[in-house]
Amino acid sequence: MSKNRTTPFQPDPEQLALLPDISGNTINGQGETRFRRPTRIYWHNPPDAIPYGRIQQWMVSRFNRVQAFREVYAKGDRGPRELDPVAEVQVQDSPANWSARAKAFASQHEADLVGITKLDPNWVYDDCEPPTEPWIIVLGVEMDHSRLAQAPSSDEDTASAHEVSVQYNRGARAASSLANWIRAQGYHSASHAGPWAGSITATPAALACGFGELGKHGNIINRQYGSSFRLSAVVTDLPLVADEASEFGADDFCTRCQVCINACPPSAISDNKQMVRGVKKWYVDFDKCIPYFNETHGCGICIAVCPWSRPGTAPRLADKILRRRKRLYVS
Ligand code: SF4
Ligand code: SF4
Repeated sequence: MSKNRTTPFQPDPEQLALLPDISGNTINGQGETRFRRPTRIYWHNPPDAIPYGRIQQWMVSRFNRVQAFREVYAKGDRGPRELDPVAEVQVQDSPANWSARAKAFASQHEADLVGITKLDPNWVYDDCEPPTEPWIIVLGVEMDHSRLAQAPSSDEDTASAHEVSVQYNRGARAASSLANWIRAQGYHSASHAGPWAGSITATPAALACGFGELGKHGNIINRQYGSSFRLSAVVTDLPLVADEASEFGADDFCTRCQVCINACPPSAISDNKQMVRGVKKWYVDFDKCIPYFNETHGCGICIAVCPWSRPGTAPRLADKILRRRKRLYVS
């Protein structure tokens, strides 16, 4: 696999032979004008239960043949495999205080971003049972951009994919620490952490709780870390208060930026928003992205090159956009 991001990409024939007959964009609901819940397609277990399971297995087997990748999950600390029992005595406090306390705990236990929102059952995959817990606490962990910027990875050049795996482990630890703290207060909780997708799509929850705006590359742009972070989450019945969504001009910035489009080797990123399951939004072409993603151990070029992801850039950009808006509004 060439490191040259502009070399035209030809997928490995071995991988192409494993593709299902149905387009991933059809499964994802590209062009559908009516709302529906998402359908599991890729990065779920067991692989034979999902349409793109065979090329998922192909990707995983190539990933696992690299010792550095194997070790990061085998030796990496993802926190306890099982959560503690829920305490019998339930501690009482106000929703506002619980929110502040949960955020403080998460911030002191590896989370760089914490947000709270009501858990919308529409974020749950259509063949999964929505959790009974009414709240979701979304956590974000920052990636080391100097390592992410080395994307794409190969068997020999592992920095970017290794960093992603390390941060998924950190996200898992942050989520299980918070889930156990909630259980110690006498409330139910369950943790969700990547790289596997689980039963809930975390991105809409993260958007709802103020992590940022969806970028043209299909990932969230946050006003502190750009797109250089990973998500994990905890669902719970701890009484909480929802945060608000955050809008600071990233969506508008994307309409005038082409950086990720020009950097994506298989040209998977579109310059126009598209209708996807009844919502008009930025959408990455699944069929074009996934073969390259698979052959580069998870790609990551688009989030690495996004101007917002450069360390220290996102807060300055957001402030500049908001100052300009204020001037236009006042004058
Ligand atoms: S992750 Fe997908 S969309 Fe992003 S640059 Fe790589 S191939 Fe393109
Ligand atoms: S690179 Fe530019 S267009 Fe792509 S997500 Fe980032 S800001 Fe938006």
